[in-house]
Amino acid sequence: MTQRVAIVTGAARGIGAAVALRLAKDGNAVAVLDLDEGACEATVKTITEAGGKAVAIGADVSKSDQVAAAVERVVAELGAPTILVNNAGVLRDNLLFKMSEDDWDTVMSVHLKGSFLMSKAVQSHMVEAKYGRLVFLSSTSALGNRGQANYASAKAGLQGLAKTLAFELGKFGVTSNAIAPGFIETDMTAATAARVGIDFEEFKKATAASIPVQRTGTPEDIAAAASFFCSEENGFVSGQVLYVAGGPRN
Ligand code: NAP
Repeated sequence: MTQRVAIVTGAARGIGAAVALRLAKDGNAVAVLDLDEGACEATVKTITEAGGKAVAIGADVSKSDQVAAAVERVVAELGAPTILVNNAGVLRDNLLFKMSEDDWDTVMSVHLKGSFLMSKAVQSHMVEAKYGRLVFLSSTSALGNRGQANYASAKAGLQGLAKTLAFELGKFGVTSNAIAPGFIETDMTAATAARVGIDFEEFKKATAASIPVQRTGTPEDIAAAASFFCSEENGFVSGQVLYVAGGPRN
């Protein structure tokens, strides 16, 4: 089987790191991209020590010049990328009346603009290869969530982007899908617990009680879904949103 080159954004930790490890285990060379290149080294080391191929790339996905330079480095160091997982994300939660313009712009820039810029930068390689796998990290918050007007809008927008690129790029052998996780145990949900002043273990326990499978999710739960969407054999599921949430939606 051909070794594909994958880029995973926000892959220094959390869901992105688990997706990077899984895609490497699946046989792909992986560009571990995050804001801080040094912070990517742990993910790269785990991959290379297991016999895989990976490089650390530092870039802010919301800056077009940094995105262009990052993709050029991936081409030079690993080869042309044909798998992209748009995972980088930030939270700036607040009720609407307290949400600042900066809270809105930051979330839109990283999630929506970042995914647009990254997808645009890799699409020419996918089109040339007549092969591609695009994955967007949406969220159950896309259905609406108190205190997340910015995040919910960005995550709903990513579903629209995934579906649109499925239409535009399908004829070039590219599939484009979104994963909408529910509560996943990462620094992001730990920060939410801290913000509302609840111990993380208590927060997870309380959340698990409302989830049909009675547990919170792990980054590996999301990596398993990403692995399917990014696989060679998935050439016919495109433009879909997969809720990975221990139940229908949360
Ligand atoms: P996380 O632990 O906070 O990790 C996010 C990563 O993205 C961090 O390494 C962060 O870098 C990086 N990042 C932030 N802004 C960036 C930028 N402009 N350019 C490049 N990298 C950037 O988050 P997570 O929980 O793993 O979530 C990953 C994705 O899944 C996000 O899109 C999130 O919205 C989505 N999601 C998460 C959950 C959940 O329950 N955890 C649920 C639904 C959806 P720094 O550390 O340097 O900031």
